[in-house]
Amino acid sequence: MYLYNSATRKREEFIPNDPELVKMYTCGPTVYHFAHIGNLRSYIMEDILEKALRYAGYNVKRVMNITDVGHLASDADTGEDKMLKGAKRENKTVMEIAKFYTDAFFEDCSKLNIKRPDVVEPATNCIAEYIKIIEGLLEKGFAYEAGGNIYFDASKLDKYYIFNDHDEEDLAVGVREGVEEDTNKRNKNDFVLWFTKSKFEDQALKWDSPWGVGYPGWHIECSGISMKHLGEDLDIHCGGIDNAFPHHTNEIAQSESFLGHKWCNYWMHVHHLNTNDGKMSKSKGEFLTVSLLESKGYDPLVYRLFCLQSHYRKNLVFSFENLDNAVVTYQKMISKIAALKPNAEEPVDQAAFDVLKEKFLTALGNDLNTSLAITAVYDVLKYKTTDQTKLAVLADFDKVLGLDLIEKAARKRRELEAAPKAGQFTVISEAGEQDEAVEALILARQDAKKAKNFAEADRIRDELKAMGIEVTDIAGGAKWKRV
Ligand code: AMP
Ligand code: ZN
Repeated sequence: MYLYNSATRKREEFIPNDPELVKMYTCGPTVYHFAHIGNLRSYIMEDILEKALRYAGYNVKRVMNITDVGHLASDADTGEDKMLKGAKRENKTVMEIAKFYTDAFFEDCSKLNIKRPDVVEPATNCIAEYIKIIEGLLEKGFAYEAGGNIYFDASKLDKYYIFNDHDEEDLAVGVREGVEEDTNKRNKNDFVLWFTKSKFEDQALKWDSPWGVGYPGWHIECSGISMKHLGEDLDIHCGGIDNAFPHHTNEIAQSESFLGHKWCNYWMHVHHLNTNDGKMSKSKGEFLTVSLLESKGYDPLVYRLFCLQSHYRKNLVFSFENLDNAVVTYQKMISKIAALKPNAEEPVDQAAFDVLKEKFLTALGNDLNTSLAITAVYDVLKYKTTDQTKLAVLADFDKVLGLDLIEKAARKRRELEAAPKAGQFTVISEAGEQDEAVEALILARQDAKKAKNFAEADRIRDELKAMGIEVTDIAGGAKWKRV
């Protein structure tokens, strides 16, 4: 598999440290509000990465954190604590907010067929890990105490910027004037590892530490959780592009300084979903969530398809018009698959299966080219082989695509079979009863009406009425119930 590595800014062959097990880490949500569909774009594409690796034959151990403490409104250690903000907004405790929005996040994920990572770890569970790393950093001289807080000293690094081309000279120029100056910092890029002096008097979650009662900075949680579950060497780390700086940059700084060696080999960043009027935000009143899409009648999997139609390293513009186009594509795709005739008795044409699978794998292995992977679905439909083979291939592809292709097509097939054919008259009982005598009378009444023998039609209606049967005409037939 070839993947673009943001750390080297090159497309590289993916080679895990241990060929038996890929160690994958994903930055999880800050659970102070619902996830917006932009956040979920990142999680959909990371889900594709995990599933593509598994499809390519790797075992994967994937870990995700849940940020339930320490993430301030600005990634640069300034602004309000996001969790406190959520708790105040809803008049609840921070833990109540965390529980509610963690559950809501996984509900959204399940609607979008995003697999739950093997390990999901709330940041508040791993305080001992953060303390261990911070102690190590202090010992090695990579951290200092100032004003009660512990800071990482970015000037101690040979190379701080990993993902962007900032001027290294920036490192030692001290704190820039402006926004919210933290006068404790020695260098502009220093960041908080542990807060004891918080500007939030009402900070709800605090723990004892060698430096006093306080709470961890946001960046340390991902290093701590990753090392706890995946050890000292990580194969691949992912997140949205906004995480690259400063969050991932700081994760690398502290992890490698603590470990004394390289930490993670590949970095995958999903670019943003934007709206026509700009960035997606949770602070602008009503924002775009999976529930909002559902309330407008959209199947969440249409949104998944919409994301798969474009490459994860390109910004994607969301509009309902664009989503409507995905609805049409999805419906057409399902209809075409529904037109295939399953035949469980028939053996799968293995040669065709292998050719088609190879094509799909090549698309995924080309830096997760999901739009090409979708095209591979159409290649299957056009391929000269049996319907049963096509269905087997599509079921296999759907392990990665997660579009419920087979289930949706089967449902559509059943609907088509149940629907009245042109010229056919269907009789159904509202209670789901089978009563041949009643059905025969309703059909006889229909025949009489067709023959314009209205006297006979009325007589049959009266007969049914006398039996306690009420008949209502519906499109293509009639329904009846006992009254
Ligand atoms: P948060 O809950 O704010 O910590 O963000 C959760 C994930 O969503 C992170 O990986 C972010 O990088 C990512 N993210 C935030 N905004 C967007 C967006 N507009 N499009 C795609 N991913 C995003
Ligand atoms: Zn993280």
